[in-house]
Amino acid sequence: MSRSETLFAAAKNHIPGGVNSPVRAFKGVGGDPIFFKSGKGAYLIDEDDRQYIDYVGSWGPMILGHGNPAIIRAVQEAAERGLSFGAPTAIEVEMAYKVCDIFPGMDMVRMVSSGTEATMSAIRLARGYTGRDKIVKFEGCYHGHADSLLVKAGSGALTLGVPNSPGVPASVAEHTLTLEYNNSDQVRELFNTIGGEIACIIVEPVAGNMNCIPPVPGFLECLREVCDQSGAVLILDEVMTGFRVSLSGAQGYYGIEPDLTTLGKVIGGGMPVGAFGGKKVIMDCIAPTGPVYQAGTLSGNPVAMAAGLAMIDGVSTAGFYESLSQKAASLMQGLQGAADAAGIPFTTNQVGGMFGFFFSDEKAINRFEQVTRCNLERFQKFYHLMLDNGVYLAPSAYEAGFVSSAHRDTELEQTINIAHKVMQQL
Ligand code: PMP
Repeated sequence: MSRSETLFAAAKNHIPGGVNSPVRAFKGVGGDPIFFKSGKGAYLIDEDDRQYIDYVGSWGPMILGHGNPAIIRAVQEAAERGLSFGAPTAIEVEMAYKVCDIFPGMDMVRMVSSGTEATMSAIRLARGYTGRDKIVKFEGCYHGHADSLLVKAGSGALTLGVPNSPGVPASVAEHTLTLEYNNSDQVRELFNTIGGEIACIIVEPVAGNMNCIPPVPGFLECLREVCDQSGAVLILDEVMTGFRVSLSGAQGYYGIEPDLTTLGKVIGGGMPVGAFGGKKVIMDCIAPTGPVYQAGTLSGNPVAMAAGLAMIDGVSTAGFYESLSQKAASLMQGLQGAADAAGIPFTTNQVGGMFGFFFSDEKAINRFEQVTRCNLERFQKFYHLMLDNGVYLAPSAYEAGFVSSAHRDTELEQTINIAHKVMQQL
């Protein structure tokens, strides 16, 4: 038995499913997960000393690659000064200034410890601010596991909330309305009918939890418009896209100003950090200034802030996103070339340092339902062959992939060469 297999067997005795977050369990691709012990640059090393080129990057945060020396140093120095005080610190002020400077529409920001906390708090704030209960989300978008966001979309048109996780009360789920991503007509129709009852729209401005689906031209603009007309709050969930598709996220990339933004992943440099922020008039509703309660023992933790600030410094260098985007684009071109050479129907999406690929004969994939029609069997086979050859991709056909600045031409070329070999075997 490999060490990963031994560890997984042991893990299952005391950790549900052997993992602390479900997608790690390889349910999307079959087989057992790999246990990792270290990472350096673009590479991960597993418990059996096998090396992989990593395109998961801890699901987004490791945008400078693993073990970046500046981040490690910042964490070590902060840890020496103290792990947690549960009281205000200078570094939180520095972080708030930095974030508000990078995101022009953000007057104020509050730090939390995960993306889930950020979106959950933003929703509560939007409801408190507007005095309305209904929220709108989109099919295939994931915003963390808070009750009101774990709501399944029905097929087709608007579905009145049906909880898709036991434990979410129907009375909570009924306030969540789910629409089709990239379907502006549906959005307008809903807002024409009940716009005045809607507290907020929450959206992934580039969807990364149904593979990678960019917004079609006009979609984000439509969301901005209906929110302006109805008084609903527009929340761009940039937990994945923030500091990823550009320094100022998808809002900078597409030029859309939200009322509230949620952040996570990159902002923590690999430490547990999330944030939500936006217009002062809305943020003033949060306790202790206002009545909407939100709090956290470890929020703004000094070690996590040090990691996040070092990370933001690292991605703020001139040309960083042009180069990152170029890496992701050439990887996608390479995979497309490999598929074409093997006669495999295949298409790709890419925005900045975020990418997605689809075993599909449809040329443009921009809807959730198209993703569900992709050839899953072929994806699974491709996945395991790439893995066997030392390439670690997200273990699900419904997740975006990520490149880091540590992925050099060498790693990209090696990945493409492996893909050529693997596509011939599908
Ligand atoms: N929003 C988005 C867009 C995400 O991608 C995720 C996590 N993948 C979350 C929220 C939840 O973040 P976390 O896992 O840190 O709770």
